[in-house]
Amino acid sequence: MAERTTLDTKLRTIVAKAATPLAKKDLVTVRDLLEFYPRTYLDPARPTDFSTLGEGEPVVVLADVQHAVTRKMRQRRGSMLIATIQDGLGNALELTFFSAWGHEKALVPGRRILVSGTVSHYGGKRQLTHPEYEVLGTGAKATSTFGEGPIPVYSQVPAMTSMKVAAAVDLVLHALAEVPDPIPVAVRAKHGLPPLSNALTMVHQPRSTQEQRKARWRMKFQEAFVLQAALAVMRQSSDAVPAVPRPAVPGALADQFRERLPFELTQGQEQVLAEITGDLERTLPMHRLLQGEVGSGKTVVALLAMLNVIDSGGQAALLAPTEVLAVQHHRSMTAMLGPLAEAGMLGGSTDGTRVALLTGSQSAAERRRNLLMAASGEAGIVVGTHALIQEHVQFAELGLVVVDEQHRFGVEQRDALRAKVDGASPHTLVMTATPIPRTVAMTVFGDMETSTMTEVPSGRQPITTHVVRGDQSTWVQRTWERVAEEVAKGGQVYVVCPRIGQDDDPDLPGGTDIGPGGPITFEGNDAEEDSAPLHGVLQVERALRELEVTADLRIGILHGRQAADDKEATMRAFGSGEIDVLVATTVIEVGVDVPNATQMVIIDADRFGISQLHQLRGRIGRGTKPGLCLLMSQAAESQSLERLDAVASTTDGFELARLDLAQRREGDVLGATQSGARSSLRLLRLTRDEDLITLAHEDAWQVVGEDPDLTNHPELRAELDRIDAERAAFLERG
Ligand code: ADP
Ligand code: MG
Repeated sequence: MAERTTLDTKLRTIVAKAATPLAKKDLVTVRDLLEFYPRTYLDPARPTDFSTLGEGEPVVVLADVQHAVTRKMRQRRGSMLIATIQDGLGNALELTFFSAWGHEKALVPGRRILVSGTVSHYGGKRQLTHPEYEVLGTGAKATSTFGEGPIPVYSQVPAMTSMKVAAAVDLVLHALAEVPDPIPVAVRAKHGLPPLSNALTMVHQPRSTQEQRKARWRMKFQEAFVLQAALAVMRQSSDAVPAVPRPAVPGALADQFRERLPFELTQGQEQVLAEITGDLERTLPMHRLLQGEVGSGKTVVALLAMLNVIDSGGQAALLAPTEVLAVQHHRSMTAMLGPLAEAGMLGGSTDGTRVALLTGSQSAAERRRNLLMAASGEAGIVVGTHALIQEHVQFAELGLVVVDEQHRFGVEQRDALRAKVDGASPHTLVMTATPIPRTVAMTVFGDMETSTMTEVPSGRQPITTHVVRGDQSTWVQRTWERVAEEVAKGGQVYVVCPRIGQDDDPDLPGGTDIGPGGPITFEGNDAEEDSAPLHGVLQVERALRELEVTADLRIGILHGRQAADDKEATMRAFGSGEIDVLVATTVIEVGVDVPNATQMVIIDADRFGISQLHQLRGRIGRGTKPGLCLLMSQAAESQSLERLDAVASTTDGFELARLDLAQRREGDVLGATQSGARSSLRLLRLTRDEDLITLAHEDAWQVVGEDPDLTNHPELRAELDRIDAERAAFLERG
């Protein structure tokens, strides 16, 4: 007996020859093909409007045969056939067949046909050469299996027409046995959802538009539901390992530190801190996402939470996304803590602690010393980059993991540190300055509670942003004059470039004789060159040194190819005001905090995303003086300029995040491992499906909450296992 057909059955056992072209489109299993949802549907009662068809494009049209003529061929034997089809709106299209054979009987005037081909022009007429077609209808001449319902149109599969794809789907649907449904019956009943088997048929072979919509909604809901269930299960399993409660200890380090603070906490900071300390008192591990607007003061909050944990006997790890940021955190926390971070040292506080730092570029001895401080518990706080801490550090008693500026990491990374603690879960605090729209928060951080700080400390000065078009040389020139003026007033300036560049890069246009017009005149002037070379740090540094207005300034550079020592020295020099202008790549994007920096020039600004520009800009206006951000761009496309204008028009991070999300694809939002090679998200759009995600979130968390092991939901369990395995395989392949 043949094996039962399931969603995992290979297509080649069912569709024979079509399996080869389908595999080219990565459609290998029954599931792959059935999740290859129609791109759109045609109404069989309504011919396609031909005026919308683009030339050279593969099209699928529904039309009526107007007439057909057969002509003897002059050059060779046989006859050709030209049929004219019309769309009922006055537009005609010619179908040309170089052999009339078989078509004469089918293409009879008055018949409605479904045609697939590529539009071309010939003799002033639009035509399809050798298209494939099916005759619709119920009569004996009908060659189509499509009924009265909407006709599915599939995205292009090389060497297959949409009709052939539909035929393969038809074979598969007939072969397929009842499939297990990952959505529990009760949830289906609640929303009136059809069972999976039916939904798959309804989405590919709907009898009505209503049926098609219903099925599609169900499949979309399933994507959201399964994703939420996966997050819920993950959360359940980590909750199953209790955390050590870390209640505040009055009068200890946290309190002493608060007394030392030169400022009052904002209301937002107070509130978030209260939420965190509340979490820390419990045996349920904290999973909190702190979203705080750029410059809202997240570090102090995190530091207070860490001290809290130290006070009750634990250690805290602070994971930074870059080495520059790790070093800066170490330096600024050590400074803020003062004597409190000098335990065991002369003049240090008796019940103080130590802050250890781990970076990739420390000397072996230095690293050993810091590792020892972590392992012995002498260091209450261990700061480092994600990779380093995750891989190498032993803690005496890790109680809290703070992940700073996590806006590019999937769910997996957060879990890695849990393994560091035997028998107990550490509490986790994830901080991000990229405001995360609700749907993304629910999808990527669906397993976390959220705290939000929108307020920035009072007295903070506003940032003004302008777009400077590279082709307006007077403005470009003015920009560099502004830089020089800012420095003259005692301010400091960041100049951000999209790449590092090479020592031997050609000089910027204008070369050494950069006169009025400025060094960055951009090659955008010649309009054909739309991929003008991006400006590199090394190039721009050189140009600024040669430009009259900026030549006397103290210019430093910072980028990823430098040795860590150099980077650190430069940051320190910029921090202490010994460098006026820092030309850098986006290494300064997150977290870097130099209050005296008041101006930023972002070169080739169109190369950066909205959130990234907002982040970058957040490096200025952190002190008491207002900030000025100049976005230089030679982009000509209106879309890029619109993006820059949007960034210039508001400093509301949430507003910008919404805009940003609307412009991105889901994979970018969720990260590679979330989306995977074969993303489980086909229909779901984080930007548009907020309501649906909210419903799925509630249902999934309830189902998992009531039945953490999913004993009563083996189909859902199996689906989660399948996705896990797929993701693991994807990660393995790299
Ligand atoms: P972000 O949330 O972007 O990480 P930081 O934590 O780096 O912001 O804080 C930005 C700056 O604001 C730091 O210099 C910090 O010392 C300062 N700061 C934090 N909280 C306050 C406050 N309540 N009042 C005044 N300044 C503050
Ligand atoms: Mg920060």
